[in-house]
Amino acid sequence: MKTIGQLIKTPINKGRKCFECGTEYVAKEYSNIGIVYVPGCNCALKKQIQEEERKQRLYNFAILKRRLKDANFPYDTLGTRLKTRTCENIEAAKEYIKNFKPRSRQGLYFVGPVGNAKTTLAVCIGKELILKGYKVKFMVFSQAIRVLQSTYGTKNPLDFMEQVKEFAKYDLLIFDDFGREAYKDRTLTDVADFVNYLYTNLNNVIITSNPEMVEKIKQIPDFQAMFDRFFQMTKRKDFRKASYRRSNG
Ligand SMILES: [Zn+2]
Repeated sequence: MKTIGQLIKTPINKGRKCFECGTEYVAKEYSNIGIVYVPGCNCALKKQIQEEERKQRLYNFAILKRRLKDANFPYDTLGTRLKTRTCENIEAAKEYIKNFKPRSRQGLYFVGPVGNAKTTLAVCIGKELILKGYKVKFMVFSQAIRVLQSTYGTKNPLDFMEQVKEFAKYDLLIFDDFGREAYKDRTLTDVADFVNYLYTNLNNVIITSNPEMVEKIKQIPDFQAMFDRFFQMTKRKDFRKASYRRSNG
């Protein structure tokens, strides 16, 4: 009995060449259809891989864009990258990025006078970590408290602990301007609950703060325990110069 291949006078694809590189197709024998000429190069496979990689890059770019947007960095810090900066504690920042591990309770506490150096450096760290694939959230600390307390009203569908857990999902939380918030009514217990959860959950936080503000909130009765807990999660780095611009001449 003749195979289909033997029935066809000229084998399939005989004499064809690759469009890309000009390599002639080579004969290959199949038990059911006989001789078929197939590409003698791997151009088609390479093209397919390139296309897959392109799709992957587009997908990664979309994730990156979404994460950068979700991080909610202040507008005036968006253009800055770590490699172009010269400011205090830049080496500590690079070290932090290099050794970063999610859920390792490794944080930084940037203390210094008003100026954008500490906030911008915190944002730079956040951006680098997003580029490395991590999820980062930037919040002025009073804003974080506002979101947490919005769970008592009808506008936020989550309850308090659900909102805390939402925040705790991030690989890094940046709390800017800690100490400027007002501690009245239930704010102190809310913040204590929040910070305790982040502590137990091994969250990584970067806190920026102005020394006078910290002195002010230290005077609040019962604040010390909460305060200690927050700073058990971080390594203190001082900024002595007033601002990045001034320090840069
Ligand atoms: Zn080819």
